[in-house]
Amino acid sequence: MVKVIIVGGGASGLMAGLAARSNGAEVTILERMPRVGKKILATGNGRCNFSNVNLSIENYHGKNPRFAQGALNSFNVQQTIDYFEYLGIAHKVEERGKVYPMSDQAASVLDVLRYELEKLGVVETTGAEVVGIEKKNNCFFVHTSDNKHYQADRVIIAAGGKSYPNLGSNGSGFDLAKKLGHRIVEPFQALVQVKLAEEFYKQIKGIKFIGTVEVLSGNNVKDKATGEILFTEYGISGPPVLDVSRVVNQLIHQGKEVWLKLLLLKDMTEGQLDELLIYRFQTQPQKSLIFNFVGLLNKQLTPVILKEAGIKDIKKPAGNVTTDERKKIVSILHNWCLKVTETRGWKSAQVTAGGVEVKDINPKTMESKLNPGLYFAGEVMDIDGDCGGFNLQWAWSSGYTAGENAAKY
Ligand SMILES: Cc1cc2nc3c(=O)[nH]c(=O)nc-3n(C[C@H](O)[C@H](O)[C@H](O)COP(=O)(O)OP(=O)(O)OC[C@H]3O[C@@H](n4cnc5c(N)ncnc54)[C@H](O)[C@@H]3O)c2cc1C
Repeated sequence: MVKVIIVGGGASGLMAGLAARSNGAEVTILERMPRVGKKILATGNGRCNFSNVNLSIENYHGKNPRFAQGALNSFNVQQTIDYFEYLGIAHKVEERGKVYPMSDQAASVLDVLRYELEKLGVVETTGAEVVGIEKKNNCFFVHTSDNKHYQADRVIIAAGGKSYPNLGSNGSGFDLAKKLGHRIVEPFQALVQVKLAEEFYKQIKGIKFIGTVEVLSGNNVKDKATGEILFTEYGISGPPVLDVSRVVNQLIHQGKEVWLKLLLLKDMTEGQLDELLIYRFQTQPQKSLIFNFVGLLNKQLTPVILKEAGIKDIKKPAGNVTTDERKKIVSILHNWCLKVTETRGWKSAQVTAGGVEVKDINPKTMESKLNPGLYFAGEVMDIDGDCGGFNLQWAWSSGYTAGENAAKY
């Protein structure tokens, strides 16, 4: 029987364990935390957005995102949904193709995975931090920080990236891979909130709106996304901001100045917006300027917008607003440019971009091209997905593929 050791009991490691065991291997999962699957519990705001029915390879990033196609085909979205249905997870599809368990509880996903692992006889060893992997004569020796040593025919590194270290993934998977000769694409934060230079965010924190965010650098639009945007006390968040944060970070690392442009009323052109304001100011000229925006904009946001437009007396009658002032208001509503300082850090980044260079991995099997018998699964590789279930799908697909192939004699 092939002996497989899996480093890391996250989404990809647990799936790899199930696939390897179902294909006849003897499997041990070594997990550094006191429990496996801690990150799964935090996903989808505790509801676990575990896949996406609209998946395409365009949802994936890295130096060579096409690498992901192999595993995403061999254990695809439908197979994933069917497999979870078999495990007991009735599923539902929500907006933009996001798949959730019917129970709305991430814990149920972890519960059924652990039940199946136990049923099949996969050994879970927790509190076991892998600090070294050596290969001698086709055999792997795996060492943990508590001075224990394990022997295996195959090893799967499924140790995740660097994000949310309190949930277990602290970047140690990169060091293990490096010591085995693998190149690492410099990791950086993705799906993370963005900090902005201005000070007024505390005033408008908590305000949400459906809008578009564009990433600008040197007057070029580098990325954009639409959806629910949220102002916070440090800057800005919400799914579209998380989605563009990858590009924001890339630009920051290139030493470029980065701006976020917000379209607060995304369904109107600048001309339509101007016409609307002319109409509102002309039909209600006696209303104060600030009150004129009631029903059009969030009440807390209006004074900030008017201040940004350089209007000193925001209570003056709307009829007294000059054309120049109106144009400036329109410009802020349509092209509000905010300077980025940085992103919020590893503790808040949902995903790690960068990781083990995929050129050195076989895309069909997830086996290392440098060390036969060594496999990779999940976020530890230089593949990251958009917000919306794509990262967990990558963990399931690459985990399943690695486990299935590692079990082959
Ligand atoms: C707050 C949050 C919400 C998210 N929501 C979603 C969502 O709704 N949908 C989605 O698709 N994605 C979501 N993601 C991303 C998704 O959770 C990850 O991409 C996915 O869990 C990665 O799985 P993984 O197995 O590769 O790594 P991880 O889940 O990070 O697991 C790695 C495991 O390896 C262990 N480990 C690390 N080093 C060692 C070592 N040296 N020895 C032993 N064990 C080790 C860690 O403790 C950890 O348990 C979210 C992420 C976060 C942080």
